[in-house]
Amino acid sequence: MNRFLLPVLAAVSVLFAIAIGILWYRSHHGTDYLQHTSLPTLGINNLSISYTLHGISIIRGQLRIYASESTYFPHEPIASLPNASAAWHTGRLGLGHFGSDPLPIRSIWNRLGFNSYETGMMSSFSSDSEHGIAIPLWLPLVLSLFFPVLLLRRICRQRHRRAHGFCPDCGYDLRATPHRCPECGRQVSTPAAPGPLP
Ligand SMILES: [Zn+2]
Repeated sequence: MNRFLLPVLAAVSVLFAIAIGILWYRSHHGTDYLQHTSLPTLGINNLSISYTLHGISIIRGQLRIYASESTYFPHEPIASLPNASAAWHTGRLGLGHFGSDPLPIRSIWNRLGFNSYETGMMSSFSSDSEHGIAIPLWLPLVLSLFFPVLLLRRICRQRHRRAHGFCPDCGYDLRATPHRCPECGRQVSTPAAPGPLP
């Protein structure tokens, strides 16, 4: 990998990991969400009004991706649709909101934080249903460590090579040419004290 690309990727990954860590902490004190609300539609004989939601939420250490449908049944037929438009919304709900209960645990995967779920609620004037999947936040956190670990490995390898008189980049033996690698052309500013040639 390019000499400068890996440090950049590692730095971006660390920032990403910090963001995930903050979201993970926040997810245990409330729910952050981003969702898209569809245009409302009228039901048969204008006796109901429905709309759908698609979104993601960060809750209880999980990222949930969901789709839900809500229907309201007013007491009288609706004359016309309310003046609403499809839109994206973002916001935060406090602890204990509807749908914030922990998801049921039925398998080792659920215990690890992976889940798929369906919930719903019905009353005399409304009906709500939601289905979605949940992914534990530790997964992107672990994945974000990939480039930093790769960078750490490269730094350790380069130090080891430099200390033993080899080119830090390609590993070529520099004891005969301590200032410049004849293999890859790297200038070595502070060459290690060359050891005895074989
Ligand atoms: Zn080299």
